[in-house]
Amino acid sequence: MNIKAIDTHMHIFHETKYEPQKNELESAYLDIFTKLSEGAGIDKMFCSTYASVESTEPVEEENEYLFKLVQEVEGLYQWVVIDPRNEKTFQQADRILGHGKCVGIKLHPVDHKYSLSEFGDKIFSFASVHKAIIQIHPETDADYILPFANRYPDVTFIMAHLGSYGVSDSRAIEGAKYGNVYGDTSGMASFKNLVIEYTVGRVGSERILFGTDTYAPGAQRGRIEYALISDEDKENILRKNAERLFGRFLNK
Ligand SMILES: [Zn+2]
Repeated sequence: MNIKAIDTHMHIFHETKYEPQKNELESAYLDIFTKLSEGAGIDKMFCSTYASVESTEPVEEENEYLFKLVQEVEGLYQWVVIDPRNEKTFQQADRILGHGKCVGIKLHPVDHKYSLSEFGDKIFSFASVHKAIIQIHPETDADYILPFANRYPDVTFIMAHLGSYGVSDSRAIEGAKYGNVYGDTSGMASFKNLVIEYTVGRVGSERILFGTDTYAPGAQRGRIEYALISDEDKENILRKNAERLFGRFLNK
C-alpha cells in the first residue's frame, strides 16, 4: 500500500546512566530505528524512552530529554511519562501537555510497579482537565479500564499491545460508553494469526492504532498490510485513525 504509516507506540535508547544492557542484536537508537521506519513507509513516530518506562528513577530527566529532542527531530513526537507517586511528573505533564510535540501521557504500571485500581482516579482526573490521550501498558485484561473510561469521558484510553490478554481489548473497545477506548497493534502479540482479524471483525477498525513497540517496523507493518481485512480497514489502522485522534498535534 502506498499510504504512509504513523507509529503511535515506540521507544528509544539514548546514552544515559540508566541505559539498559546493550545487546549487539537489538538496537533502539533513533538513527537506526529511523532508517528501519523510513524503509517501512512510516513518517511519524510517537515515542517514550526505554529508560523512562523501565524504571521510575529517571522519569523526570527522561521527560525533559525527550521534550527537547522532539523539537529537533522532524516526525518524532513525545508521550510524557507519569509516575503517580511522583508529584513532579504531574507538574511536568501539566507544563508539557499541549505544548511542543507532546501527544499525550504514557503509563507503565507493570514496570513502574503500581496498580491503576489504586492510582487510576488520581491520574485520570488530572488527564481529564487536559482532555488527554493516554497510552497504557495494561497490567491485566484490558477491559479493566472500563470503569475509568466510563467515568472520564474526556480522556482517551489506548490499551497497548492488542492480543496480549486474549480478546479483552475487544471487550474494552466495545464496552466504552463514550467510544474513548482504543487498542494498538504494537509488539509481538499482534503476530498471532487472527488478532487483527478478530478485533476488526468484532469492533471495526476505527479504534485500532498502528504501533511497533520498536520491533521490526517492516514486519509490524506487514502484519497489517497482509491481514485478512479490507483495504479501508488497513488504511484506518496504519494512518487515518491516528490522524483523526491526534490531528491537533500533527502539524507541529
Ligand atoms: Zn510501550
